[in-house]
Amino acid sequence: MKLVAVVIGHKKNSPGAQNLSSGKTEFSFNEELSLEIEKRAKQVKIQRVYRRTYDSLPKDLNELEPDFIVSLHCNAFDTKASGTEVLYYHKSVKGKIAAQILNDHLVSALGLSDRGTKAKTSEDRGGYLLKSTNATCLIAEPFFIDNNNDFDRAMSKYDELVDAYVKGIEAIAKNI
Ligand SMILES: [Zn+2]
Repeated sequence: MKLVAVVIGHKKNSPGAQNLSSGKTEFSFNEELSLEIEKRAKQVKIQRVYRRTYDSLPKDLNELEPDFIVSLHCNAFDTKASGTEVLYYHKSVKGKIAAQILNDHLVSALGLSDRGTKAKTSEDRGGYLLKSTNATCLIAEPFFIDNNNDFDRAMSKYDELVDAYVKGIEAIAKNI
């Protein structure tokens, strides 16, 4: 069975972007989500990973020797931007394939606009993690947490969102 590291983006005391209406942060949303993903995944072994520091994260992940890595985030911009995207390292052929699989599942689940997969270099936001892990690594941004419409969609389709992560991860395990 393949080992998948599911990373919860950000930290409890530095929780990332926030939905101002509900007070929900990226960290709290994705921590709960990761527990659900773990419960439902049957075809892969999931290892939940918390960030100690951003610098130490690649080393922590490399020591686990996972088959691939999915880092759970939410997007945020100006409260209006909307949609789903998945980031991968620009030199990673497997990353591109895996990102497309996960993105397709997330887009189907939420029905938000498909911003597509995004190839990132080490200079881009998130690029350090994508570049520094030995295993294929994805950064998932299924919706914009600062956009109330996106956030409401993620909550009303929560079950589908969990399922999309599980099915997406299981499909990636078969395909890369
Ligand atoms: Zn984030």
